[in-house]
Parts: sequence; C-alpha cells; structure tokens
Amino acid sequence: MSVLDALAPVVSETVGPQAARIDREGVFPAEAVAALAEAGLLGLISSPDVGGMGHGPRQAAAVVEELARHCASTAMVVTMHYCGTAVIEAHGPDDVRKRIAAGEYLTTLAFSEAGSRSMFWAPTSTATPAGGDGVAARLDARKSWVTSAGQAAGYVWSSRPLAADGLSTIWLVPAGSPGLSVGPSFDGLGLRGNESRPMAADGVLVGADAMLGPDGGGLDVMLGTVLPWFQVLNAACSVGLADAATGRAAAHVAATRYEHLDQSLAENLVTRSTVARMRVKTDAASALLGDTLAAMEAGRPDTMLRVLEAKAVAGEAATEVTDLGMRACGGAAFRKEVGVERAFRDARAATVMAPTTDALYDFIGRAVCGLPVF
Ligand SMILES: Cc1cc2nc3c(=O)[nH]c(=O)nc-3n(C[C@H](O)[C@H](O)[C@H](O)COP(=O)(O)OP(=O)(O)OC[C@H]3O[C@@H](n4cnc5c(N)ncnc54)[C@H](O)[C@@H]3O)c2cc1C
Repeated sequence: MSVLDALAPVVSETVGPQAARIDREGVFPAEAVAALAEAGLLGLISSPDVGGMGHGPRQAAAVVEELARHCASTAMVVTMHYCGTAVIEAHGPDDVRKRIAAGEYLTTLAFSEAGSRSMFWAPTSTATPAGGDGVAARLDARKSWVTSAGQAAGYVWSSRPLAADGLSTIWLVPAGSPGLSVGPSFDGLGLRGNESRPMAADGVLVGADAMLGPDGGGLDVMLGTVLPWFQVLNAACSVGLADAATGRAAAHVAATRYEHLDQSLAENLVTRSTVARMRVKTDAASALLGDTLAAMEAGRPDTMLRVLEAKAVAGEAATEVTDLGMRACGGAAFRKEVGVERAFRDARAATVMAPTTDALYDFIGRAVCGLPVF
C-alpha cells in the first residue's frame, strides 16, 4: 500500500471532519495524531531496523502536503514530529526510536527562544554541569514557541554548549521532567491547533545520554539534519495550503453567478485571471519543491541552494495565493464556508517560521554572491 493510500482514510475519517473544530476552538488535533499513529505514519521516516517505514523526505513531503490541504495545524504538528524524528534517528536512543516507529511517541523541535528569537542557531539558554545519579547537566531556558507543547512525549531541545566550544548543543528532554513547564495556551492568527506555546526549563536535570550529537555540535545537527527536513516539509505545507485555496477559489467562482448578467464569476476576465495567477504560483512552488527533492536524492551540487529556496518560494507563494483567493472570492471569502479564509490565516506562518523568509533571502544572497552562507 502506498503512503498516500494509507493516509487517505485518516484524512477522510478524522483529519477532514475535525478540521473546522480544530481551527475554531484552537485545540490540538489529538484524534488526528492518534489516527496517524494507528496507520503507522508517525513512524514514516523511522528506520525499518526499529520498526519504521524507512521513507525519506519525498514521502514525508507528500504526507504533509496532503494533510495541509485539509488541516494545516495537523500538517505542522507532523512536520515538527518528522524533524525531531530525523535528529533522534541520527543521535537518539534505540528505545525512543522504537517508540516513535510504533507511533507511541510524538516529538517536536524546541529551538526558538525568547532571547535570540528567530535566530535559533544562537540559543541563549544554558546547560551547566550538574552531579547526581545519572545526571550530567542542568538545563535552564525560555523557549518562545514549541509546536505540540504539552502534547509531545519528548522535545528536541537546543542550549548553549555544556563545556565545549560552539554555538549550541542538542538534547532530548522528556515530557514531565521536573522543572519543565508549558506556557499559556496558543491563541494564534492561524495554525490554531498547533499548541505552539512557550516552554521554560528551570533546573531540568538530564543525563549524558540525553545529548543528541556532540557537545557544541548543535549547529551541525541544525544545519545538516534538521534544515533539509524542515525546509522541504514546511514548503510542502505551504504548497498544500496554496493548492487547496486555489481549488476552492476556482470551485467558488465557477459555481457562483451574477443573475442579472446570467454569468458566473469565472466568466469575468479579472476573476479568472486572478485564479490563474493562484494556479501558476502554486504550481511553480510545487515544481521547485519537486526539484529540491530530486536534488537531495541525487546529491546534486545545488542541493543547499534549492533547500534554502524551497521554503522561501513556497511560503511566499502560499501567502500571495491565499491573498488572491480572498480577492477572487470577494466578501463570500470572509465567511468560513468558501474555505479560503482559514488557508489565508494558516499560510502566513511560513514566512515568519525560522529560518524566516527574510533570513532565507539573506542566506541565498550570500550563496549566490559567493559570501559565506552561515
Ligand atoms: C505557528 C508557529 C509555530 C512555531 N513552531 C515552532 C517550533 O515548533 N519550534 C521552534 O523552535 N520554533 C517554532 N516557531 C518559532 C519560529 O520558528 C520563529 O522563531 C518565530 O516565528 C520568530 O518570531 P519572532 O517574533 O521571535 O521573530 P523576530 O526574530 O523578532 O523577527 C521579526 C522579523 O524580523 C525579521 N528579521 C530579524 N532579523 C533579520 C535580519 N537580520 N535580516 C532580515 N530580517 C530580519 C524576521 O525575518 C522577522 O520577519 C513557531 C512559530 C510559529 C508562528
């Protein structure tokens, strides 16, 4: 069975029917996550050695894109889970890897901080040596945004290094650790079901086995492991949102009529040109995402450039496409039933999720001008 065949009943029976409530009430898509776990899809990128499906970024992007067509909150929860899983697969303990593969363990990234804000590569939070039975470090942090906060079983967590040089060290912090707390509930413009809440660590004690990768090696983990996954999955979320908004706008303008003119909205040149621009921008972003995945798979020399471009292009495209959808569908789009309004709100997150579009333009400009990128 293909991955999308496995996903189809999860979407039709749970994700789709729950989507409006998730957005309206701003609640975590717990039933969707449970259904994804039941279908084995939380173990999509886990190695078959630990019981996972062993798929790569292309299949993960297909899952996230399809989820985003129906509920972008669920898509972003899964995006963060796959990003955290990639780190744990590379550096984490086998028991956690097995639990992820079995769908028993949801994870996420806890990188962004109140101190360094969108510049996640430079955490200000600390890891200090600590003693005690099995204890290696004490973590203190003010994390600003953590998707699935309070819902995940473990957090892939950044801090300043414990003792080594370097910008950061990555840890796996279990939910329920004494001193770990979750901030107020998330009341956002979009992605309202994400539970993207602040978190704090006040003297959280972790063992040496909680370190993911070498002390001081956090930047390598962020750039080498997390960045490619996050960029393509965030782009896939944007493409799914843009595609859904384009389809809904086209359906609305084709089916809605000016009775006094005896014509549909689509028969107006301006309106159908607006929908055409939505289609073109969506398809261009989708094509770039496809080329990025091809570059990654082939190890092409332009892979890093494509990886940086994919999220910037798809995030901006989704923002523009959903804005055009609001215009094409007129006042009707201000109400929920056309289905463009939620995509318009959800799509806006991609441009400010780090690396933000502005930061990506900085990195891409450095790459094409021959300056050091990072
Ligand atoms: C829905 C949602 C979910 C999230 N989930 C997670 C998560 O699971 N884990 C996680 O770690 N983080 C998460 N984040 C945080 C995200 O990755 C960013 O860190 C956060 O959105 C940055 O917001 P800020 O207000 O701190 O930005 P700021 O750093 O205050 O930036 C404000 C603006 O200034 C621009 N800017 C700043 N510096 C420069 C510069 N040098 N050049 C050009 N422009 C610049 C930025 O691009 C941005 O547009 C999430 C964010 C959102 C919105």
